[in-house]
Amino acid sequence: MCAEDFCADHGIALCRVDEQPACEEHARVCQSCRMEHCSAHEGRCAEGDHSACSACLEACGSCGRVVCNRHAQQSRPDAPKGSRRLCIACVRYCEGGTNEPVGVDEVAQCASCSKSVCTAHQAVCVVDGHVHCSRHLHRTDASRRLVCAAHRADCAEEPEAIFAADEVAACPVCGRGACAQHRAACAHCGRQVCTADLQQQSHRCATCAQLATIADPPEEVVAAALAATGGASRSRRAWRVGRDRTHVVVELDLGWRRRTVFTLRHGDTVPESVVTHSLVGSKRRTVT
Ligand SMILES: [Zn+2]
Ligand SMILES: [Zn+2]
Ligand SMILES: [Zn+2]
Ligand SMILES: [Zn+2]
Ligand SMILES: [Zn+2]
Ligand SMILES: [Zn+2]
Ligand SMILES: [Zn+2]
Ligand SMILES: [Zn+2]
Repeated sequence: MCAEDFCADHGIALCRVDEQPACEEHARVCQSCRMEHCSAHEGRCAEGDHSACSACLEACGSCGRVVCNRHAQQSRPDAPKGSRRLCIACVRYCEGGTNEPVGVDEVAQCASCSKSVCTAHQAVCVVDGHVHCSRHLHRTDASRRLVCAAHRADCAEEPEAIFAADEVAACPVCGRGACAQHRAACAHCGRQVCTADLQQQSHRCATCAQLATIADPPEEVVAAALAATGGASRSRRAWRVGRDRTHVVVELDLGWRRRTVFTLRHGDTVPESVVTHSLVGSKRRTVT
């Protein structure tokens, strides 16, 4: 390149890029491939700001910075954006696949473990709508939907089956989860309870089956009874009460074979639901 005469001991016989000799002053060793080249074929790698031969330097397909082969990886053709050169600042490893390199612009973070999952290997929890990696997603047995660990739920009647949180409701009697097939409405209080707590013959829940007369109902129950009946039941003698995991269930005898059954959530003073039973049938209303 400088065209000076020189001996082979001082300089290089061949630049690896153009295969021309170079003098000692213009000879370089590439820090990426470790091969000799001339100063005309020298460039800088943006990662670590070191020199390298031009054959080893190329732009990152994500950020566009020119980097050497040592500071770059190639993504596979089946990556979401195809095979690209990626600098070490832009490369991620997809947890949803085989840990293959992908670009930072091709991934989302798993909402459970915050590891990267590429758009080809990511899926969304049907309950929270967030992206999760395959290790943190489970397919529900009956509905075949995907749920994350936080939104996977169980039915106490079939503990080995996987459900989504929105497919299972807690039984107010026992507090355990029950799927749609293993819960039914109590004919007395109207609440959805698990089938284990629903008596076959009476169709009453375990709480309604054991209502007991109490002499002196607590203040919040008296207040709720007023709200439920509009003050129709003055006599506290005819009250039968039961208590379970989530509610106090109160049955008021209004005379003429009319009874009102209301449920009061623990800590509340307003009934959650009121069912009125009479000779003509039952009417349920939800208060809240
Ligand atoms: Zn090189
Ligand atoms: Zn050269
Ligand atoms: Zn980059
Ligand atoms: Zn480099
Ligand atoms: Zn994860
Ligand atoms: Zn979720
Ligand atoms: Zn139950
Ligand atoms: Zn009941």
